[in-house]
Amino acid sequence: MGASPANAAPTASLQRRQKISGLPVVYHEAYSAPQLPPGHRFPMVRICSVPFYAADHLVHVPDELPTHETLQLVHTAEFVDSFTGGTLDEARMKRIGFGDVTRSPVLIERTLAEVAGTLLTARLALRHGLACNTAGGTHHAFPDSGSGFCILNDLAVTAAVLLEEARVERVLILDLDVHQGDGTALMFQDEPRVFTMSVHGESNFPARKQRSDLDVPLPDGTADDEYLRVLGEMLPPVLSCFQPDLVLYDAGVDPHKDDSLGKLALTDQGLLRRELQVLDTCLAADIPVAGYVGGGYSPDLNVLARRHTLLHRAASEMWDSYELGSRESMPE
Ligand SMILES: [Zn+2]
Repeated sequence: MGASPANAAPTASLQRRQKISGLPVVYHEAYSAPQLPPGHRFPMVRICSVPFYAADHLVHVPDELPTHETLQLVHTAEFVDSFTGGTLDEARMKRIGFGDVTRSPVLIERTLAEVAGTLLTARLALRHGLACNTAGGTHHAFPDSGSGFCILNDLAVTAAVLLEEARVERVLILDLDVHQGDGTALMFQDEPRVFTMSVHGESNFPARKQRSDLDVPLPDGTADDEYLRVLGEMLPPVLSCFQPDLVLYDAGVDPHKDDSLGKLALTDQGLLRRELQVLDTCLAADIPVAGYVGGGYSPDLNVLARRHTLLHRAASEMWDSYELGSRESMPE
């Protein structure tokens, strides 16, 4: 359980008794700390705007970082030791795409904090029905290496921890980032308790796709109506057949028409409709959802930050319309 900065670390029991006044949002100051070279495509600073738009929400901060043992539920011990020890080799650093910054303590802390925040968001979602992180969705991370600006796979670690703790029996990882969730798909290819669904641009990174439980590759230029039609056809049967206890939702905004790395053609309105559609579909089936921002690329960080907040806008709306704030909290 995280603490609200305004409330100086209330105990878990106190926190449980409090009426949640708004959508739970998870944030850690380390999310936006690392400094990448000017012009780097991965805009960590985008998260800086989060405290402003999250002002109406109860902001939760993860209070502990994941242990090596936790990370090793999905990653190899050698990779965890090399990365956290700042000794990752050049070849694997190159594949990640952050250069020498990968070995810096500040990026190591950021990466661990993101995993912690993703897990906390999922716990909050299980308790309240809905919660959102302000980072998360590092789906290109593999067991023994990172890739494409992803180092540790926060979604996979979170699913594995909750299964290990028997908090859930089945988890759906719904990945709508424009890039295929290849690392997640590989990690759970032989795990029947996790269903991986990836809707992505078929011509986009990664060139070599893995096999998700359900892949929905879309042609370049796919726009709002077609995208939402396909999603509306594909998601409900997955929910009714697999019956997940929790959905981990990677809401990457890189399918946007102006995204630097995208190739699809969704508008702001289309992305907002997507978030409402996903959340409404899951919540109507009484399935908790944890939302993650995923990827998004633009030289204009204000535009990008606004695009990412569409998830939180939609989630706030759903929080109110499903009256989740007045719902009895699930026991821990
Ligand atoms: Zn992406």
